[in-house]
Amino acid sequence: MHLARTIAEVRAAVAAARAAGRPIALVPTMGALHAGHVSLMQAAARGDAFVVVSIFVNPTQFGPNEDFARYPRDEAADLACCRNAGAHAVFLPAVAEMYATGAATTVHVRGLTDALCGPHRPGHFDGVATVVAKLLIIVAPDRAYFGEKDFQQLAVVRRMTADLNLPVEVVGCPTVREPDGLAMSSRNAYLTAEQRHRAAGIHAALATVRTGVARGERDTAALLAAAKAVLLREVRPDKIDYLSAVNAETLRDVARVAGPTLFATALHLGSTRLIDNVVVVPDASDA
Ligand code: AMP
Repeated sequence: MHLARTIAEVRAAVAAARAAGRPIALVPTMGALHAGHVSLMQAAARGDAFVVVSIFVNPTQFGPNEDFARYPRDEAADLACCRNAGAHAVFLPAVAEMYATGAATTVHVRGLTDALCGPHRPGHFDGVATVVAKLLIIVAPDRAYFGEKDFQQLAVVRRMTADLNLPVEVVGCPTVREPDGLAMSSRNAYLTAEQRHRAAGIHAALATVRTGVARGERDTAALLAAAKAVLLREVRPDKIDYLSAVNAETLRDVARVAGPTLFATALHLGSTRLIDNVVVVPDASDA
């Protein structure tokens, strides 16, 4: 497994693999790797791809009062995880390698970033779109892998790569969960045992949406009210940023489940902010 700390090093490793005829697959991460990240690496390996994992806690996607400084970092454990998962190269740049002094360019994706997490994390998606664009230009992969847990991020990245004509296939992968349903996240490590127990209710709340839709309910206000009742009872969050039903493509609010609909939430347990979502698709018969 190659360990590249500079752009030149990762480009050299990728060039050698490409010269050998292998497709290139990129898995961008912020480290503190878990089974969710491993599932992306495994999906990325398809077709004998040369799998590059980037590990970069990107300062530009954190707000001034967010957790950049305390974000979990464990390079040795992350490298062992990548090795075990069969990654071929890890790109671990320092902040100064990614952002030269005087850097003045930002990628902003309009529209999709106005919804859900956008208003609660000003500048976040500009940071994400900018760093992902840079990683895609540096590594120039054939495919790049992202988790559906960060559904809005995936939508923003798809829009950005299309708009900038980046020749990459963006692949979304299903959310990997703990046995009790909690979506795996590097931020789960912040939770106390008591908060961790309550956090399982997030998935339980979103699961009621699936049940409701299966029973024939199409009114998103009714579905959201049922989900919110479970959240308040089981999770008892300190703050709910949003619990919303949106069109899964446009991310605009919808009153009825008429097509693929994203039910998504972001909430705070103490100082930890967690997100999760479920996508429901009504039967073709009742469209
Ligand atoms: P992060 O390191 O949190 O920035 O995540 C890096 C990538 O892993 C993103 O594309 C995430 O959506 C994805 N990811 C994070 N958690 C999960 C999970 N539980 N299941 C699947 N993918 C995930």
